[in-house]
Amino acid sequence: MKFISIFKFVSFVIIFAFMTDVSANEQQKKELNPISLSTLANIDNQIFIDPWLSLQTLSKFAPDYSTMAVETKIWWLLRKAQCENLLYFYQDFEKTIAKIAPLITNTTSFEQQSRYNYFEGLSLQRKGGYQKSREFYQRSMDFAKKENLNHLYIKAKQELAYTYSLAELFEISLKDMQEAYVEAYALNDRFLVAVINETYGAIYGYMLEHEKSIEYYQKALDIYESLNYKAHVSEAIYGIASTYRYWKKYDLAVTYFKRYQKNVAFTPNENITYFGAYGLGMTLAEQGKCPEALDMIEQALNLAGLDDYDAELYKRKTSCLIQLKRFNEAEEALTKTNELFLSLPELLGTAWQLETLKIASDLASAQGNYQQAFQLLSQYNQEYTALLIRNSSTRAITIRSAMEIERQGIEKALSNQRTKAELLAIENKEQKSIQQSYFIIFLLTLLMIVFVVVTFQFRNNRKMAELSIKDPLSGLYNRRYIFQYLDELIAGTSVEKGELSVLVIDVDDFKVINDTYGHPVGDQVIEVVAQLAKQALRTEDVIGRIGGEEFLCVLPRTDVDIAEKIALRMKDEIHAYKFEFEENQDYSVTLSIGISCYSQEASDAKSLYALADQALYQAKGMGKNSVVVFS
Ligand code: GH3
Ligand code: MG
Ligand code: MG
Repeated sequence: MKFISIFKFVSFVIIFAFMTDVSANEQQKKELNPISLSTLANIDNQIFIDPWLSLQTLSKFAPDYSTMAVETKIWWLLRKAQCENLLYFYQDFEKTIAKIAPLITNTTSFEQQSRYNYFEGLSLQRKGGYQKSREFYQRSMDFAKKENLNHLYIKAKQELAYTYSLAELFEISLKDMQEAYVEAYALNDRFLVAVINETYGAIYGYMLEHEKSIEYYQKALDIYESLNYKAHVSEAIYGIASTYRYWKKYDLAVTYFKRYQKNVAFTPNENITYFGAYGLGMTLAEQGKCPEALDMIEQALNLAGLDDYDAELYKRKTSCLIQLKRFNEAEEALTKTNELFLSLPELLGTAWQLETLKIASDLASAQGNYQQAFQLLSQYNQEYTALLIRNSSTRAITIRSAMEIERQGIEKALSNQRTKAELLAIENKEQKSIQQSYFIIFLLTLLMIVFVVVTFQFRNNRKMAELSIKDPLSGLYNRRYIFQYLDELIAGTSVEKGELSVLVIDVDDFKVINDTYGHPVGDQVIEVVAQLAKQALRTEDVIGRIGGEEFLCVLPRTDVDIAEKIALRMKDEIHAYKFEFEENQDYSVTLSIGISCYSQEASDAKSLYALADQALYQAKGMGKNSVVVFS
């Protein structure tokens, strides 16, 4: 009956088995997951994965208990109880929660109070005190709600609903389950959803809605398998087997019970085999295979199991003994059954208990006590019919199917929403990367524009700078620059350091060219003379155009003799150049050049130029086409 509690038992034993087996691993885990007092509030997962190791670690703090603050004490006890419960140390568990009770006050945190009440509920549920148990679960939920501790709230609500179903209060149970389901689904907690699906499987099984029961168990099984929770996988398989049994699909039931036995075979705990033997014994008995069934039932009854399960075993044992006409033994078994039900008052009046009337009637009938048999059977019929009416009223059926539809709707809506949210997240991500690439493109474009602008500006500036010092017609330096250059050169030159000479050059009879061939030809002559003059100079010499057809050359580190040689060479080279203003008629120009040298008397640009110009004047006076050094 109490599938959940068996399954918990199974899982604890499995985990226990793991722990005792793999001691090397244990040592590692111990180092990896030390539980310190300061982390007591955050070790749910650790305990869930490894309750035995967790309990051992907690025990190390036992000597510190008396010096712990009250809050720490409660946490320590709560965690200890949690481990003990998971490990099926029910007596220790009872003692631990009894220790917590006096420590709880108004100032205890809601989480601690919620957990404490949940454990009290579990303890009472296990003892068959369903109503009291529900009160504690409700309190656990109330505390959890105050601090939005959704996980605790849903767990308590699920247990509350399950407890209702144990007393066949299916309508309330389903309503609470529905709420727990919606909340678990909204939390997107797969494990909680699986636990709830499993409970649905159990409740639908009790309500004889077999198909639905299998469907829910299967959903839970799928999740447990994907999470690789071996103990929980076993629980779900056991549930499926039981439902097939109730459905009278005995072969399937046997298959699943055997699969269950295989799944728990590795546990060292003898008592764990109780549930496998129970399932198989019950199935065989219901199949009418009584000799085999009785063996299996006996095997189960010899193991430590649960009272309500034993009651079921005794019922089947009675039926089989009747079938085998072993009436005395049947009588004994029936008495044992009734005794067990009397110790479980909340099961009185349920289908489980009412069946004893039918079995008693069968026994009476088999022994020939027809009057008694008839009486018992009619009592059974009356009570059982009333129960069926109670459980399958039109209202209940309507509510049940409406809830089913609603649940499916909610599930669909929630998963739709989740898909949408996921899609949106993907879209956002894509959007972001598109934005990023746009930004990069923008940056690159900006950089390119800046580069182009800067380059353009730089070139422009260079051009402007060039233009400001160059003469456009001749391509030589202009008057302003060449004089400035000469000034700067003189500023850096001392008499001792080296000589400096300047040449002033004037084209002879230039006016004649202009007058004879026109201004453009005159311009052309200026251009050619400028280029030839420049070629006649050395690289360190600098030349500029200072007037119409007048040029100034600055010759650094050049004494008067060299200056004169350069001037003569230039004069000759230019004279050698043949212009062709008219067809087949060569024309050449001559130059007059005046030279002056840097000296104490001529130690600035102005006076150097003035002296060279005087020399030029002399050259003109001497008949042109000549070089004169100022002296
Ligand atoms: P001299 O032998 O005494 O130097 O005689 P000249 O004819 O060269 O006399 P002058 O130096 O006085 O004449 C220069 C002429 O050059 C005067 C002016 O019209 C002309 N001129 C000045 N600048 C330019 C120019 O840029 N292009 C042209 N084609 N002619 C110019
Ligand atoms: Mg002139
Ligand atoms: Mg001239």
